[in-house]
Amino acid sequence: MTIPVDSGGAADVLARHDVVTVLCHVRPDADALGSSAGLARALRGSGATVHHSFDPGVVPDALRVIPGAGQVVPLSEVPAHDGLVVTLDCASPDRVGDWGRLAAAASEILVVDHHGSNPGFGSHILLDPQAASTSSLVLDVLQAGGYDVDPDVATSLYAGLVTDTGSFRWGGAGAHDTASRLLASGAETARLGYALLDAHPFSWLSVLGSLLGSARLEEDAVGGRGIVWLAVPHHVIATVAEGEVESLVSHLRGVREACVAVLLKEYRPQEWSVSLRSRDGGPGRGVVDVSAAATALGGGGHPAAAGCTVHGDLDSVTARVRDLLV
Ligand code: AMP
Ligand code: MN
Ligand code: MN
Repeated sequence: MTIPVDSGGAADVLARHDVVTVLCHVRPDADALGSSAGLARALRGSGATVHHSFDPGVVPDALRVIPGAGQVVPLSEVPAHDGLVVTLDCASPDRVGDWGRLAAAASEILVVDHHGSNPGFGSHILLDPQAASTSSLVLDVLQAGGYDVDPDVATSLYAGLVTDTGSFRWGGAGAHDTASRLLASGAETARLGYALLDAHPFSWLSVLGSLLGSARLEEDAVGGRGIVWLAVPHHVIATVAEGEVESLVSHLRGVREACVAVLLKEYRPQEWSVSLRSRDGGPGRGVVDVSAAATALGGGGHPAAAGCTVHGDLDSVTARVRDLLV
């Protein structure tokens, strides 16, 4: 049975343990890594022994700017223990990867997440689909529990907030309130924002040019809302960093003729990691709920941003995704 908790209830769970494993989702983004790094540092500051990891545990270069990223240990090196496991930004148990031995040994599992598609797992769950980022929820928990939010903790949490809100284009008043509290705690934002949102190696520009040139537009799809598609085949993905590949979706999102963007990434041959984005097309053309399509394909996410993994050749994967976009 999973007990729903608020931020105070989550802080009570943390307070019961002095050995804690902090995990985020596979192929972490800045919210996954930032929320987990901020929590790990605050718990260490209060005297807990913390194992901070994800599956398999190699931090992408693009995320190394996040304070605490250097203290991530490979999942295989985390000892199974009967204390607490916390999962951050994981919409389902699968998203944590191969953590079965840690879950089996733990006396409690606290899930902190903001994905509406989360079916609920763990012994306790703090789930708020209105939260702009998982890192926002972590700040609430730390403040409810009286933990020290120092500038490094605040910077790690800000990393999740600024990226999950598309630099505050969405997320509303709650996101700005969280930002204000993080800045008051000393979060560094300029160097972090550049590294997470802007920086690329020069060599990426030519790959970007040819990839963007291969994008396809279906203007009449989804009742005239339009879909823009881009596929990154395995032979290309093998030559570039993951952070660069993941950034492609923001270019697609900007295409005026399409309310839905689909980025297909063949990280392993015939295994496509699919990113879906959707925006409001105006009167009578509300947001296409891409999390419904992602969930039907075994993934999940938010109505306007979701993901899943689909196996097969590009044509069959494209057809399966298209059929679910309604
Ligand atoms: P991405 O396209 O990978 O940036 O993911 C967009 C949103 O969907 C993020 O909030 C992800 O955490 C979520 N998401 C991506 N893949 C999955 C999945 N397989 N299951 C659940 N949520 C996912
Ligand atoms: Mn995430
Ligand atoms: Mn998130």
